[in-house]
Amino acid sequence: MRRITASKLYNFIQCEHRVWRDEYGPKEEKIKETNPFVEMLWDKGVRYEKEVIAKMGEYLDLSEIGFDEAAILTIEAMKKKTPLIYQGVLIYKNSMGIPDLLRLTPDGKYMPIDIKSGMGLEGIDEENDDEGKQKKHYAVQLAAYSETLNGLGFENKKEGIILDIRGNEILYDLNLPMGKTNKTTYWEYYEDIKRKTVSLINNEVQNKPALAGICKLCPWYNSCKKWVVENDDPTGLFYVGRSKRDILSEDLQVNNIDDVLKIDIKEVLEQKKRDKTFLKGLAEKTLSKIMDRANVLKNSKKPVIYEKVELPIVSYELFFDIEDDPTREFVYLHGVYERGPEGEKFLDFTAKEISPEAEKEAWANFWQYIKSLPKDDFAVYYYSAHEKTTYKKMQKIYPDIISEKEVEDFFENSNVIDLYKIVLKYTDWPVGSYSIKYLAQYLGFSWRDKTPSGALSIQWFNEYIETKDPQKLERILLYNEDDCKATMVLKDGIKKLSDNFEKKM
Ligand code: SF4
Repeated sequence: MRRITASKLYNFIQCEHRVWRDEYGPKEEKIKETNPFVEMLWDKGVRYEKEVIAKMGEYLDLSEIGFDEAAILTIEAMKKKTPLIYQGVLIYKNSMGIPDLLRLTPDGKYMPIDIKSGMGLEGIDEENDDEGKQKKHYAVQLAAYSETLNGLGFENKKEGIILDIRGNEILYDLNLPMGKTNKTTYWEYYEDIKRKTVSLINNEVQNKPALAGICKLCPWYNSCKKWVVENDDPTGLFYVGRSKRDILSEDLQVNNIDDVLKIDIKEVLEQKKRDKTFLKGLAEKTLSKIMDRANVLKNSKKPVIYEKVELPIVSYELFFDIEDDPTREFVYLHGVYERGPEGEKFLDFTAKEISPEAEKEAWANFWQYIKSLPKDDFAVYYYSAHEKTTYKKMQKIYPDIISEKEVEDFFENSNVIDLYKIVLKYTDWPVGSYSIKYLAQYLGFSWRDKTPSGALSIQWFNEYIETKDPQKLERILLYNEDDCKATMVLKDGIKKLSDNFEKKM
């Protein structure tokens, strides 16, 4: 019998196909090495769990015992009303769960507790008094423990506790609705996820891969990508994910990119007007965009610009990219590739140790450099909203470095440009992803590192902190410099497209 575990439910929430592929996918295509970023998150979780447990006082430790034996010992311990059990194993029917802690409650029942190295709630906004809401993947995990405990007769409620990174104990009431307008309760959501997961695990239903951002962290990435290419699946088009692909398939029997090209848009829009349920969620603009992208990928095979783009003409152009470790919420590098009258050079503002002082100093040096440039005679290019979001957060942490208004004015300045917005609004490219890596490589740029990735940069930084090996730091700087240069290559590529567009007019 295949058991349903909390991690399988979690995988389903991340990607509906993952559960099926784990059971029935071509095992030889699965990547053996764990993704360094996933490993880092895992290590961080384990570290934090150890810290919390060390302060717990007395508890029954079942963490080193095999599942089946631990399951028997867990039942015995709960019957004896052991106050606290660490890594007890709960098995009931086809479900198995290992809550970090099981705590005896005054009514003689047990409360499942999970230790998390993240915030216990999402959407907390202290400034606006928003207390946040329960995270659905935490809720599903607690629901799985709670259901097993209820089945075994050791709990009679539908709740659990998340012990979060701030040491807060957050009671998850699983009978609560999931949102202000979404009346589905967390428990109903859990039951739905579980039912679907069971059907996939038992191969009663099958589903298909769908390429998305999350895939890069998944051990099936190469395998699913291969499947998408071989099947000419529409998720091979930028911005077409599972839900859009499935709508196209169900309502239009469009099952590959070639089919997308055959869509009669006029006829489809007429039908959409007559029938509101037809292609629900796919507006005319989205549909046209999908068709444009299919056309660029399959037919013209060349990038296209739809309008002339005005880019500033200035003495100094800065191509800017930061490196940060989200597991520590720490920004360790602000990199700038400068192109100016004196030529080109790379500047780095790096924190060489993990401390608020080091982070603050690197950031202060970055702003000092920006302020040293001739006013209104420089432009800054970056790619995606990450830099802006991160800087707004940093400003709150280090308000004495720069004011909130100055940070806002900086990003509002028309010479400070998020190229991703330009790419999205004005261009299309014959590639399946519009990440800077894909676009710059398409334009002929190559990274000096053989395996460039933001996740690896974080890993190298953590290794550098431990070993102080200068080669590790060198590798981080080289990688960041190339990211900055890639932004320059893209800017030049867009400018060329725009100039050619103007000539044709
Ligand atoms: S690679 Fe993507 S589609 Fe495939 S199982 Fe993983 S997350 Fe799902």
